[in-house]
Amino acid sequence: MKSFIPKTAVDDLAIFGGPKLYDEELHVGRPNIGSRARFYKMVDDIFERKWLSNKGAYVQQLEARICQLTGVNHAIAVCNATVGLEVVIRALGLTGEVIVPSFTFVATAHSLTWLGLTPVFCDINQDTHTLDSTHLEGLINARTSAIIPVHLWGQCCETGEIERIAEAHNLPVIYDAAHALGTKRFGTLVGGFGAAEVFSFHATKFINSFEGGVITTNSEDLAKTIRLMINFGFAGYDKVVSMGTNGKMNEVCAAMALTNLESFDEFVTINRSNRDQYRRELAGIPGISLFVESAGNTCSDQYVVGMVDSTKSGISRNHIMNIFWAENILARRYFYPGCHQMEPYRTQRADNPPELPVTDLVASQVLILPTGSSVQSEDICRICSLIRFVVENGQAISAMMSENTTN
Ligand SMILES: *Cc1c(COP(=O)(O)O)cnc(C)c1O
Repeated sequence: MKSFIPKTAVDDLAIFGGPKLYDEELHVGRPNIGSRARFYKMVDDIFERKWLSNKGAYVQQLEARICQLTGVNHAIAVCNATVGLEVVIRALGLTGEVIVPSFTFVATAHSLTWLGLTPVFCDINQDTHTLDSTHLEGLINARTSAIIPVHLWGQCCETGEIERIAEAHNLPVIYDAAHALGTKRFGTLVGGFGAAEVFSFHATKFINSFEGGVITTNSEDLAKTIRLMINFGFAGYDKVVSMGTNGKMNEVCAAMALTNLESFDEFVTINRSNRDQYRRELAGIPGISLFVESAGNTCSDQYVVGMVDSTKSGISRNHIMNIFWAENILARRYFYPGCHQMEPYRTQRADNPPELPVTDLVASQVLILPTGSSVQSEDICRICSLIRFVVENGQAISAMMSENTTN
């Protein structure tokens, strides 16, 4: 790390030719990695046992651990959350249309499209960034077969209201819980809501297994169907009883997840401390705030969600992001511009674009800031003072930046 040279003039910004704040890129979503020694020991065990996949000992241990952690009866480890979602969609026999938020990672929508279903995009609540249940009734029709809300940023959805409406229309609810391992809503752990919930262990997620995920459900029948489906429909040697795919998690991935789960509390502590430091150091900067989870919600705080209100900051989120990238701070605008603005949804709906004003607004404001176990207090200090400098000089900087650098 270079010694910190604070920016004192607009020309000091790297985007205008000044020295970069970082020689190496500072990423959002650097993996949290637990004890390497413990992981290597487990990999040794795997080689000793010569059992690499197909419901191995570590996969079983991981599933038991997830049941314990979420208080759910069944946990099924899978190769990734996208395949996990697809398998649940198949297992529930969904067809036609499924209501999803547009403000999510594109996999939520793609898992449906991949299977020939149609995602129908619902707007979000401006405070929670999760599906706004007041729009549900208007989107449900004869073709609707389910709702897949997303616990975005680890913020639990309004499960009560969503499930009340779903039940009235006889629709199952599947939660995309990719961000929500360990999330509690008024003391209830995420994992047991709806028909099933799907967590991701992708490298960038709070707990990672390199790639992976887990499906949780309290339904024994659904768990059985899912177990068959992730293993080609095999019910025993030479006995195929249904359609299926290969959604299995392997032993090395399970060992990685178990290793990282050992550090669960430590990672949460780091994330909270980072978030609190960001909150303190960004306080009072006009137009800059952090997303606040709603009362009763606690989560892993894996995401520090910066919000830029350009009507007050005097500089747009996109300009700030471009300035950051020039400094080698790769802050991200997750989940810009919303699935409805991505292909194939954008073209398919060109003649009938959904009206998602809150999604469009929030997608124009979010700036995800680096956090996690690889980010130091000193980094947060630099990032916050850079934001402060940029906003203080917002008008001059905006005038120097051309609007066509915004994308
Ligand atoms: C990461 C993510 C997924 C996909 O998870 P994978 O394990 O990478 O397939 C799905 N939904 C959301 C909201 C995500 O962030």
